[in-house]
Amino acid sequence: MRISKLFGKTRREIPTEADTISHQLLLRASMIRQVVAGVYSYLPLGWRVLKKIENIIREEMDNADGQELMLPVLQPLELWQESGRDLAFGEGLFTLRDRRQRKLALGPTHEEVITELVRYNVQSYHDSPLLLYQIQTKFRDEPRPRGGLIRVREFTMKDLYSFDTDEEGLDQSYNKMLQAYRNIYDRCSLPTILVEADSGAIGGKDSHEFMVIADSGEDEIIYCSNCEYTANTDKAQSVKDKIEDGEPLPLEEVETPGMATIEEVSSFLKVPHNRTFKAVFYVADGKLIFVVIRGDLEVNEVKLKNVLECTELRMATEAEVTEAGIVPGAASPIGISGIKVVADDSITTGTNFVAGANKPDKHLKNVNYPRDFKADLINDIAKARAGDRCPKCGGKLSSNHGIEVGHTFKLGTFISQKLGAFFIDQSGQSHPIVMGCYGIGLGRLLAAAIEQNHDDKGIIWPLAIAPFHIYLCPLYPENPQVIATAEKLYADLTAEDLEVLFDDRNESPGVKFNDADLLGIPLRVTISPRTLEKNSVEIKWRSEKESQLVSLEEIVAKLKELIARGAKTS
Ligand SMILES: [Zn+2]
Repeated sequence: MRISKLFGKTRREIPTEADTISHQLLLRASMIRQVVAGVYSYLPLGWRVLKKIENIIREEMDNADGQELMLPVLQPLELWQESGRDLAFGEGLFTLRDRRQRKLALGPTHEEVITELVRYNVQSYHDSPLLLYQIQTKFRDEPRPRGGLIRVREFTMKDLYSFDTDEEGLDQSYNKMLQAYRNIYDRCSLPTILVEADSGAIGGKDSHEFMVIADSGEDEIIYCSNCEYTANTDKAQSVKDKIEDGEPLPLEEVETPGMATIEEVSSFLKVPHNRTFKAVFYVADGKLIFVVIRGDLEVNEVKLKNVLECTELRMATEAEVTEAGIVPGAASPIGISGIKVVADDSITTGTNFVAGANKPDKHLKNVNYPRDFKADLINDIAKARAGDRCPKCGGKLSSNHGIEVGHTFKLGTFISQKLGAFFIDQSGQSHPIVMGCYGIGLGRLLAAAIEQNHDDKGIIWPLAIAPFHIYLCPLYPENPQVIATAEKLYADLTAEDLEVLFDDRNESPGVKFNDADLLGIPLRVTISPRTLEKNSVEIKWRSEKESQLVSLEEIVAKLKELIARGAKTS
């Protein structure tokens, strides 16, 4: 490809609208352009990268016995109502009506459509295991699209679905996919870690995410420095230490004039935060919820949502709290009625806590659970934090930011049961099919690769997903020998099926080198009057500082060898 003909011009200035490195560099390299929030066009260079990622993913899915098919974007909303997941996805689901007023959805994922298809094509246990996948456009109406390709509303995704007859079969399919995913990230030179994850709106039991560690990542990963424990903060647990405590004492009402926050109350009464109960109010599917948690901990809203099995959860307003007869700042679970009380299990870690008295400027000392009040639900709903102790080994937990580049779910039978996808076993009995699903967002993987591989000059593409292998860079092309050599080399390399981006422009060496660095093509080949004096050209890896001269006779063979070797090791 000649740069003079390439669609899309590089930009020198840093775009103000870009909030991550990958977003900045993709815009400056003219690889993508935003059409509307969270919706992007790919220009030729960006599209070449996406296609390479797609091919790697396809090869690994095929190697793992996946069969590729294609499912529609437009889906009848009834299918989503059948599984009940229209509610779980809520406003994330793009819906529309056709001319007959029939309700349709733009697929955010395809469990319903594929299960419906499998229902009519699978009858017996002979048909399993079955692995079906597609590489297709998905739509999710994200509330906050951000980070360029990191969180978008329209994106290309590989989604594979596994169908087995039992849990053991599911485990096998699941492990096969985990391995295929590791192969994909290895081939893209992307170091990932596997973390325990929350299933969210997809549903199901076990779930894992592949994370790339990056400061710009919006996921928080909690990990143990002593053992293997690694989990998304949505899911992560930690040890809630028992607090040194005495025998339960009688309740005692105390004056706390003007004291409302845990901070104020504990310093006023001279008790540590972990000897207090904090009240937090939410509205879950329209109903007020009273949450009680130890004063030193924070509520994990994902866990709370899972415990409540609700679809919508938000903080309650002060007006909603007051309206329910509760005194904000002195709210108490004691004597409360008509409101669901959900407690974190930390309230059982000691005795004689301080809690609100539900009277202005008054608190209660020596509150004991379950002596003084009953929670309707008690569970772990606390955030695990860096510094807490590991639930597996007691070691110290740390945290990091990450970008999720793959998500796997053991769905089990909840969708096949709802949609009536059954098989007949050896003895003629009918059972729901056991399902798993496995997704990779291609654009996000591309962005994560840039977050991992860049410097202050631009992108440094891993060879396997680079838009081109070689940046052919003649300097002073007005010199007839330079341009003639470059043209011949371009023809020779292209004839060898090497992917060459030929900078045939009449630009200064500075401009050409800057663009070569920005675009991140792995190998730069420079031809100048000076190299030609030695009958040579200069080659340099984008990732390295040193360059070397290679004679004109050897250059084609040398580049072929370097790229073949690089493709093997990457
Ligand atoms: Zn540990």
